[in-house]
Formats: sequence, structure tokens, C-alpha cells
Amino acid sequence: MEQTLNAASTIDEVLSKRPLIISGPCSAETEEQVIETATRLKATGKVDVLRAGIWKPRTRPGSFEGVGTKGLNWLNQAKKITGLPIAIEVATGRQVEDALHFDVDVLWIGARTTVNPFSVQEVADALRGANVPVLIKNPINPDLELWIGAVERVAKAGIKNIGLIHRGFSSYGNTEYRNAPMWHLAIEMKRRNPNMMIINDPSHISGNRTLLQSVAQKAIDLDYDGVMIESHIDPDKAWSDAKQQVTPERLAEILDGIKWRH
Ligand code: PEP
Ligand code: MN
Repeated sequence: MEQTLNAASTIDEVLSKRPLIISGPCSAETEEQVIETATRLKATGKVDVLRAGIWKPRTRPGSFEGVGTKGLNWLNQAKKITGLPIAIEVATGRQVEDALHFDVDVLWIGARTTVNPFSVQEVADALRGANVPVLIKNPINPDLELWIGAVERVAKAGIKNIGLIHRGFSSYGNTEYRNAPMWHLAIEMKRRNPNMMIINDPSHISGNRTLLQSVAQKAIDLDYDGVMIESHIDPDKAWSDAKQQVTPERLAEILDGIKWRH
């Protein structure tokens, strides 16, 4: 049966669900992969929003940089089949225009964009007048003011529904986490924005599958509003972030293992 977002569940209502669960592949790779991931996530009955990156900010050139705009058709197809609203990362004004043209339900600003006020301003300018929720990841470096500045730029562009995503902070060398959570920074951000939703991204904090559940649990214990966890139909073969992705069924087990507050 085809489902669509209808008047009874606007995107703002979907995002106000607690806990809010966002999942989907790090990257959209093929139409089949996007649709199968969405279908299997929907079948778990536990996921509220489908995520996928279609423009991927990669640390080094030469790795897979995303399928680009054609991925928007695949996501819209997945949405038509499952009824799940869709979320993508945007990093340039042009990407915002494309996303809005394709009626993407939720946009997020990635950690490598939040660090750059010029980029955030460009994204904010392209968002002006749009009625779309925007989630803002923390910058890759532990600078709270940059995170706050990004929120202010997006808010000044007239975006009403802004949320925060805590994805951890990068450091040099081998550490337990791919991106150290530095919980105190996110807690301070939460304290400064008491009415703003904050979700946790255990995938990019952990960098591997084994830590996902404990990071997610810690976030829930700290009263986060939900989590964004990457999932893939064949995680080991993912074109990006293979080590940290889990199948939709494994995601369901992880979520079942969490002690929720809501
Ligand atoms: C992602 O969500 O796949 C991503 C690139 O995340 P981040 O901006 O947190 O590195
Ligand atoms: Mn990723």
C-alpha cells in the first residue's frame, strides 16, 4: 500500500515524535539500495524519517562523492512506497535549491559545513522563505560558538523548525571514538537552546558498530530527543562509512535494547 505524508502528519508533527528515530544509509548508492533500505526500515516499525547523503563531503578527493541529484528521485520513490519522510545533507546554495525543488522533507547541515560561516550563510540565503525543517550538526571542532552561529544564521533566514544533531568532535590519532562525544559541549548547547530539539548521531561518534548502542543509551539517559543511526542493506559493502552501518534489522535490535525515557 502506498502511503504519503498527509495533513494528519505534517513533517513538524513527525519531528515532534519522541523518541525521534532517523535512519538510512550514509550514502544513497543505487535506486534499489535506497528503496530496499527504506522498505526494510519501514518494516521494523521503529523509524520515523529516512536519511541518505547524496552529496558526500569526503576528507580526501577520489573517494565516492555521492550520486548527486538523481538520488533525489530515488528518495522520493522510497518515500512514495513507504510513506517515510526523507532527509538529506545540504552544503551549498545550489544543493538547497535542488532539495527544495524535489520537496525533500528535512534538510541537515553537516559537520564540515557548520565550521564555515561563509558556507552556512550561503545555505541560509538559499533557505530564505522556505518552510522546511533544518537540523544542524555540531562543527567537527569543539567550538560551541560556531554551532550557535550556524543556528543563528539559519534562524535569521526565517527557518522556524531548527534542530540540533550532536555527532561528536574530531581529534588526531587513534581514539576509542571516531569523533569524541564531549558530552558536556552538547549539554551546554542544549542548555543554551532549551526549546530546540537535539538528537544524537551515534554512528559518526562511534565509527564502528559495537559502540552504537551504548552511545545511543547515554544520549537517551541525558534526555536527548532521539537518534540518527546509519543503516545499510549490506553494511560491509557500503560505499562510505561501512564500518559503522548496520542492517535495518540490526538497528531494530539496537533500538529494542535501549531503555527509553519516553
Ligand atoms: C553523514 O551524516 O553521513 C555525514 C557526512 O556526517 P557528518 O557531517 O557528521 O560527518
Ligand atoms: Mn556517514
